[in-house]
Amino acid sequence: MSPRILFSASEAKWHEYEGHLRHSLSAAGITAELSPDLGPPEEVDYVVYAPDSDVQDFTPFTRLKAVLSLWAGVEDVVGNTTLRVPLTRMVDSGLTEGMVEYATGHVLRHHLNIDHALAHQSGNWVRHVPPLARHRHVTVLGLGVLGAACARALAGLGFIVAGWSRTPRDVEGVTCLSGPEGLEQALARAEILVLLLPLTPGTDSLLNAAHLDQLPPGAVVINPGRGPLIDDEALLAALDRGDLGHATLDVFRTEPLPPEHPFWAHPKVTVTPHIASETRAETASEVIVENIRRCEAGLPLLHLVDRDLGY
Ligand code: NDP
Repeated sequence: MSPRILFSASEAKWHEYEGHLRHSLSAAGITAELSPDLGPPEEVDYVVYAPDSDVQDFTPFTRLKAVLSLWAGVEDVVGNTTLRVPLTRMVDSGLTEGMVEYATGHVLRHHLNIDHALAHQSGNWVRHVPPLARHRHVTVLGLGVLGAACARALAGLGFIVAGWSRTPRDVEGVTCLSGPEGLEQALARAEILVLLLPLTPGTDSLLNAAHLDQLPPGAVVINPGRGPLIDDEALLAALDRGDLGHATLDVFRTEPLPPEHPFWAHPKVTVTPHIASETRAETASEVIVENIRRCEAGLPLLHLVDRDLGY
């Protein structure tokens, strides 16, 4: 019997993905019923899921084999107690490429002090020569798929890069630190700090007042991870005291970021509207279909989420 796949995301996403998913299914030789319409839940084999999905209760999905998230971060669904089948997250080459470009671009902005040049087109020939990357310390918190790729790219540009993860990792050209004891070292050296951690109970408000205090004076924070990784009040206070030089924020506790939020008008904050990197339909569809192929063949799924760890 052909597996039935429910595409449970916005209508816009359906239009973006339908052709690519059908193409990938056909290329994999899989005949499947793919639809954005729920129909009888007891006939659904796979749910392709995004946080704006209508499905909150998986109990009626009695035939479900797996839930395949279109997003890398799964904090919206990982704790759903009605979900009793494997959950996979998105690991997509397009997503990784985009994040590397965002992270390196924003690190270079601060490293080269591009803001200074933009603000001083005054006719005065005042030369501010930036240091070389090999004299600049950058720390990446999170050495998973995205963090490791960004750390590698930054090291490739010559930066002195440290990375931090829960368990010990080995990334070429990067000083890898781990666990609570590694965090202090990772922060103390971070002239530029990039957050690429998932949101879990272990990372919620990780960048609080005490940890912000451990950063070098004038440090820059770049957060394309998740908004709640940062204690917003503590961040604003550190910026206002001048302890922090700048914060470039892509993700927020409330999205869209409300117009009255102090981040918008703060002179030391750059807001980007959760655009650091987007899952690309063409490559992501191949990942979704590969997992369906594997599941149908009884093979282990790729990019399984550890429900206890939350990522
Ligand atoms: P991964 O699961 O591959 O990596 C997560 C990393 O964080 C791992 O190195 C992991 O450690 C580390 N980590 C998790 N918990 C802790 C902890 N308590 N202490 C220390 N380290 C911890 O995730 P990805 O790299 O694929 O994605 C990271 C996040 O990026 C996503 O969860 C999502 O929130 C965000 N994202 C943002 C996007 C945007 O457009 N703004 C787009 C896509 C993703 P270990 O290696 O030991 O497991």
